[in-house]
Amino acid sequence: MQLRNITVAGGGVLGSQIAFQTAFKGFPVNLYDISEDAMAKAKQRIESLKPQYQRYLGASQQELDAASSRIRYFTDLAQAVANADLVIEAVPEVVDIKMDFYTKLGQVAPAKTVFATNSSTLLPSQFADATGRPDKFLALHFANEIWIHNTAEVMRHPRTDEQVFRAVMEFARAIGMVPLPLHKEQPGYILNSLLVPFLEAAQFLWVNEVADPETIDKTWMIATGAPEGPFAILDVVGIRTAYNIAAGKAQAGGDAGYERLAAKLKAMMDQGKLGRESGEGFYKYPNPAFAQPDFIKA
Ligand code: NAD
Repeated sequence: MQLRNITVAGGGVLGSQIAFQTAFKGFPVNLYDISEDAMAKAKQRIESLKPQYQRYLGASQQELDAASSRIRYFTDLAQAVANADLVIEAVPEVVDIKMDFYTKLGQVAPAKTVFATNSSTLLPSQFADATGRPDKFLALHFANEIWIHNTAEVMRHPRTDEQVFRAVMEFARAIGMVPLPLHKEQPGYILNSLLVPFLEAAQFLWVNEVADPETIDKTWMIATGAPEGPFAILDVVGIRTAYNIAAGKAQAGGDAGYERLAAKLKAMMDQGKLGRESGEGFYKYPNPAFAQPDFIKA
């Protein structure tokens, strides 16, 4: 099974990256979005990726132009998928939108077409029946800034066909990703199954006043050789996102620990400390303390 003609559905943050990366690696790509307005934004996003490809991958203008010329834009779903071997879905992370999308897609796509969801938090088995082809459906999860963070977590659900799984692994490799097979469904895939509890453990050491963020990061960096610790990572993720997660858990479970954590993060936000994006979070940028050579010596 060769996956050659690719349709990307949704030209948002991730969809535009997936479309451009796929075209950059030589594949013809149809990009589908819901309106002319959304399409104009997708085109802008794709243009804004080009300097990154020059900077990080040394891409030439000719290569970038060739990539652009391989992308065609559609607001009609049936046309967008008429000859698709693989549809990569990157529509909003909303159950109803995805359910509706797969129901329509299942009706208009050719029988041969494989569907892959890029969903970060929803499991493929949730949509398998709506696709009308559960055996040709699985998750293909990219990380933001896929040209440098080139993981592709390929996750099957119980009814995914083995050949389909292998073909998507092969496709991921062909577009410059490192394919990472997940043989069972796992909320959060591999990365977030590790990262979320790790960041939470660090935050509770801080909230419970066991140690301060710099000491916690220092411990992790010296003991494991990692270039940064959990609080440096939280600054990249963003304090707003960390707050949303803590506040959500506090609300869901009435847990006093999460309430205290949410309050501490809210206090940071009120001071404009949003992480790297605002120039300050747990550290001050552009020259954070953890990046100084003596940080792990002192
Ligand atoms: P986004 O909001 O930036 O983009 C969504 C796009 O889908 C928009 O262009 C929108 O116009 C379009 N859209 C809306 N309804 C649609 C429909 N019915 N059919 C087709 N297109 C439709 O979202 P995003 O951040 O790119 O996330 C998309 C998916 O990728 C989500 O499932 C998300 O979990 C996943 N993801 C996001 C990230 C991230 O860092 N942003 C990382 C990995 C995976």
